[in-house]
Amino acid sequence: MNAPAPKPWILDIAPYVPGRSKTDDGRQVAKLSSNENPLGTSPHARAAFATADRSLERYPDPAAADLRVAIGQAHGLDPARIIYGTGSDEVLHLAAGAYAGQGDEVIFVRYGFAVYEIATRRVGATPVIAPDKDYATDVDAILSCVTERTRVVFVANPNNPTGTYAARSEIARLHAGLPSHVLLVLDQAYAEYLEPAEDDHGLELAKTQPNVLVTRTFSKIHGLAAERIGWGYGSAEAIDAMHRIRAPFNVTTAGQQAAIAAIRDKGFVEASRAHNRQWRTWFEGEIAALGNAGLRAVPSKANFVLVLFDGPVSAGDAYQALMGRGYIVRWLPGQGLANGLRISIGTEAEVRGIAAALREIVGG
Ligand SMILES: *Cc1c(COP(=O)(O)O)cnc(C)c1O
Repeated sequence: MNAPAPKPWILDIAPYVPGRSKTDDGRQVAKLSSNENPLGTSPHARAAFATADRSLERYPDPAAADLRVAIGQAHGLDPARIIYGTGSDEVLHLAAGAYAGQGDEVIFVRYGFAVYEIATRRVGATPVIAPDKDYATDVDAILSCVTERTRVVFVANPNNPTGTYAARSEIARLHAGLPSHVLLVLDQAYAEYLEPAEDDHGLELAKTQPNVLVTRTFSKIHGLAAERIGWGYGSAEAIDAMHRIRAPFNVTTAGQQAAIAAIRDKGFVEASRAHNRQWRTWFEGEIAALGNAGLRAVPSKANFVLVLFDGPVSAGDAYQALMGRGYIVRWLPGQGLANGLRISIGTEAEVRGIAAALREIVGG
């Protein structure tokens, strides 16, 4: 007898590998593997979250109306054109699901976010990988991948796992070079870590250009990763299409309430950005000082740094040695980055500690 057969393109998916929180021997140590906020969560968000137990028996607001209004106020957006998801991961899947299918092509960069490939294959579309330019997004390479079959281009800016950033003029050039039938998904999961002058104007593009969708998350600077809340801004048509396929109650009540308080707490966001700026700069300096041991930091605009290992100690060896010293980072051989470690900017003690550990490990 034949068993039910999953679709072949589903079996082509390499499952997402999450950042680890424990060592091989089960110790809970400094987790610098998932780009979470080392300052925690806004106290206002925590307090709002705690009120949600009053309505545990009720479904959450399926329209996330108050959350959309709060996002609209924070960014000057029309709440009707905001989609929300169980993390921005869901919004990325919704974009692929609404715009691509079998026979279509979806472009993303070589060292791009792992979810793009999963979202592309899930709908039976074909992933097309644009080569990088020293780990960074290469607009010309993306444009030269475009064919009649291209339906979606995913670009994270800043990018994960590289931390690299494409300037406003490059994003504008990318958009201008794309045919109007191609949806440009600008994934801004780390946008709040940019200085205001570095804003790539993705939301401005999304306001006026029907083929631009911007995605954002509450998981990173807002410190709400546990609640899984993301959102997107696009044309009325795109938002309508994505609403048709999202899960009906895809953002929890506690999550909606916490997110509303979080996006209003500008002080917490600013403090998180300042902490990140200070300690990322410091950490990049420490890596530069280990250049003679073959280490190099890819210039980062995010809350993590990709450190490349080109000396006697390999990234894989350093990964194990760091784990032995109580630091879990992200080693991504499955994404073609066997030579690098992605290290999240943690607390001051964690950043100082991992820099000292690395120095010992590579003998700088
Ligand atoms: C962390 C991250 C996300 C956000 O994921 P959530 O599902 O919102 O937690 C999206 N894109 C990139 C590039 C990320 O690194």
